[in-house]
Amino acid sequence: PAPGAPDIDIARAAVMAPIVPLAETKFDIPAKALVPYGHFKAKLGFDYIQSLSNKPSGKLVLVTAVTPTPAGEGKTTTSVGLTDGLNRIGLKTMVCLREPSLGPVFGMKGGAAGGGRAQVIPMEDINLHFNGDFHAITSAHALISAMLDNHLQWGNALDIDPRRISWRRAIDMNDRALRNITIGMGGPTEGVVREDGFDITVASEIMAIFCLATNLKDLQARIGDIIIAKTRKKAPVTVRDLGADGAVTVLLKDAFQPNLVQTIEQNMAFIHGGPFANIAHGCNSVVATQAALKLADVVVTEAGFGADLGAEKFLNIKCRQTGLRPDALVLVCTVRAMKMQGGVKKTKLGKENVDAVRDGCVNLQRHIQNMKTFGLTPVVALNHFVHDTNAEIEEVRKACDAENVEMVISRHWAEGGAGAEDLARAVQARLDAPKTDLKLTYKDSDSLTEKVQKVAKKIYRATDIAVSKEAAAAFKSIEKMGFGHLPICIAKTQASFSTDPTQLGATCDHIVEVRDATLNAGAGFVVAICGTILRMPGLPRHPAALDIGLDDDGQIIGLA
Ligand code: ADP
Ligand code: MG
Repeated sequence: PAPGAPDIDIARAAVMAPIVPLAETKFDIPAKALVPYGHFKAKLGFDYIQSLSNKPSGKLVLVTAVTPTPAGEGKTTTSVGLTDGLNRIGLKTMVCLREPSLGPVFGMKGGAAGGGRAQVIPMEDINLHFNGDFHAITSAHALISAMLDNHLQWGNALDIDPRRISWRRAIDMNDRALRNITIGMGGPTEGVVREDGFDITVASEIMAIFCLATNLKDLQARIGDIIIAKTRKKAPVTVRDLGADGAVTVLLKDAFQPNLVQTIEQNMAFIHGGPFANIAHGCNSVVATQAALKLADVVVTEAGFGADLGAEKFLNIKCRQTGLRPDALVLVCTVRAMKMQGGVKKTKLGKENVDAVRDGCVNLQRHIQNMKTFGLTPVVALNHFVHDTNAEIEEVRKACDAENVEMVISRHWAEGGAGAEDLARAVQARLDAPKTDLKLTYKDSDSLTEKVQKVAKKIYRATDIAVSKEAAAAFKSIEKMGFGHLPICIAKTQASFSTDPTQLGATCDHIVEVRDATLNAGAGFVVAICGTILRMPGLPRHPAALDIGLDDDGQIIGLA
């Protein structure tokens, strides 16, 4: 394909190696450890993963980004390109990514398998119900819903208060009409009438648990711990009380094994689990990351959206729960994102505007400073776009100089791994340097309000938080139930440091409104809903689905 060809054309023209022999050549993975899904995708068996436990662990590189434009700034693309680049300079490297959700694929953002010459393949399969994992997660979620309503139907022995059911339904689709619904209508044999609603699967607690559980036993224990409702006496009711934890775990058993695929340059990738970073915790499964660390010398992984969301949660939730620690941090920045932060409209980002880039770089600098509060000094990867001008790039470099961090231009989108070798060398230098201690933003012992306050003040640079009556009552009840020690997962817009998506740059002196809070006892965090953020997105006026279809040869077109 010509330079700049559609992602799908580049992906389709790539030569794929059959996955079983490739895994054996790259990582000595025996054929019997793999469960092939066709020729180019496989799941890695748990027995084999367990057998690796005594091996030393490789090093972990976390890829995060500045505040993104709606199209994304290239964390996935950079993670893939950097992986190819690290392999090119001789480091045995693997990438761990999230599975794409059908919401963005058919909505606005598009697929999530990288772009240009930095992609994971087969991209169509990865983008569209990859190995059935999200279906398994949605079905597992649906089983709890069905058993809950069935329990009400057959006498409600647990004395569940139908007005205090917190468990909503889930589907992997942007479908705003399902946000608030009434179920059980039609008479006594049709269920108990009550209000309900749908969240997108990537916001489901099952998805979060899937990505944080360390083995099947832990998976079942966490599923059992999910609190779905309260009784009329306001006592919590769990999935274990409902008796559903065993069957739900059975539905997830196969999906829970990490998926192995390859990059265009035939390096290995795990793509497994996929919570969003704005309404959930935003990183791939712990089982995939930990298995990768046993297989490869270096593991590159991505946390969703900007560093205020994805990286904050990766560090304060995933690292806190598992003991994982990044050995290097890459902060992806684009000229177009800086321009947008500098006030340029989405439709004008292709035109040179040095002043706007300069103005917008306060956003990059804020993210750099924030990462330093964790004890992590990022390497800034300038993800190069063809229309970037030298004068614009110089502004980004100056902003990095002022913060005393290294900036490397990376051309993996146009050139593949060869274009990311400079970035790879900069990351290698970090990996060779002594590791610094990770400083988390808050302590387990802080109250839930204090935890939100610390993130709001230290990361979002808010003056304070404003906790609604509902949220305050929820925090109090969660603490009373004995879950006050849990970390918090803030649901907030990805478009701004504040809860107002129109506030650009490095906005400060704002107030973070905490509207509501819910306990995810199984996932092991408390979700604090800040500002208006929806756990069931809608489709835009012109959804990507309008442009996706099959051509005369039965090949998919329009997938990006
Ligand atoms: P993120 O993971 O940060 O959301 P992605 O890596 O998915 O971002 O990239 C978002 C979109 O931008 C993808 O469609 C990708 O093909 C495109 N893209 C990424 N980097 C470049 C680049 N350097 N030039 C052109 N398009 C790019
Ligand atoms: Mg991504």
